Amino acid sequence: MVRDRVFSAHAFHGSRSLSTSSAGPLDGKVAIITGSTSGLGKGIAGHLARQGCSITLNGFGNSEDIERVVQEISDFGGAKAMYHNADLSCVDEIEDLVEKTASTFGSVDILVNNAGIQHVSPIDAFPRATWDKVIAVNLSAVFHTSRLAIPLMRKNGWGRIINISSVHGLVGSVNKSAYVAAKHGVTGLTKVTALETAEEDITCNCICPGWVYTPLVAAQVQAIADSKNISIGDATKELLSEKQPTKRFVEISDIAAMVEFMCGENAGGVTGSIYTMDGGWTAV
Ligand code: NAD
Repeated sequence: MVRDRVFSAHAFHGSRSLSTSSAGPLDGKVAIITGSTSGLGKGIAGHLARQGCSITLNGFGNSEDIERVVQEISDFGGAKAMYHNADLSCVDEIEDLVEKTASTFGSVDILVNNAGIQHVSPIDAFPRATWDKVIAVNLSAVFHTSRLAIPLMRKNGWGRIINISSVHGLVGSVNKSAYVAAKHGVTGLTKVTALETAEEDITCNCICPGWVYTPLVAAQVQAIADSKNISIGDATKELLSEKQPTKRFVEISDIAAMVEFMCGENAGGVTGSIYTMDGGWTAV
């Protein structure tokens, strides 16, 4: 049995609704954003909330930090926010995440599959359990959330699925076997999902970011700094100049704006698309 995983009414003093805000373009829509306690997912959640969307947040972190994120999201708009602590490597917990969102907010209209983890190691030293975990969180969870959300979207006659893949859904890098395999899988799954829903008002698209400065990348910068005994600044320059021609991080707000576009009125005919936002990484 799944233990109580929802921080809603009592734990966070309710899914909040602010009466001061005006209607946004996504007013009344309900979005699940996986991995939204941090980094890109948190940015996307805030952006969609500003458009009027009610949000189910998900991801790990300590409860004070998560409560702060729920409060921040609620403060952005007239939307409601709730938090569900599903571990996306557990199918039962994913089922509970989708079910609780639908029972709390009445539907699931937008699904942003964002949660992701990384492990860096050569293939012959890659721990078996870590391979399984990366594939479960980065790829299998996208399948499970999609299979559960699509029937709810069909019931409403509208749905938007946005998968956050990576530039590593298109090209490889050494020592990232599980991540690259999972992200290539997400890119392929996006196309299949788009084809299976093509005749309905449901779209599925994929974003492939290059380097974006988030805790996931900060850890990789720190690893370079430690291994080469250089400063964080020099490690950052090294990371960027190796792969990303702009030598600048892609902004979280730019990715959030792309998600908004994919959910918006002008993107009804956009499905099965793979959008790179990679500072020129794959142009080389
Ligand atoms: P992050 O580490 O800041 O955030 C990851 C989120 O996923 C967190 O909320 C974390 O709690 C959650 N998460 C991790 N394991 C989970 C699990 N088992 N169940 C539920 N939630 C879990 O990372 P980020 O950089 O914001 O990455 C977000 C997405 O963007 C990932 O899919 C990542 O692969 C992708 N991406 C990031 C970059 C980048 O440069 N940051 C580039 C390309 C793609």
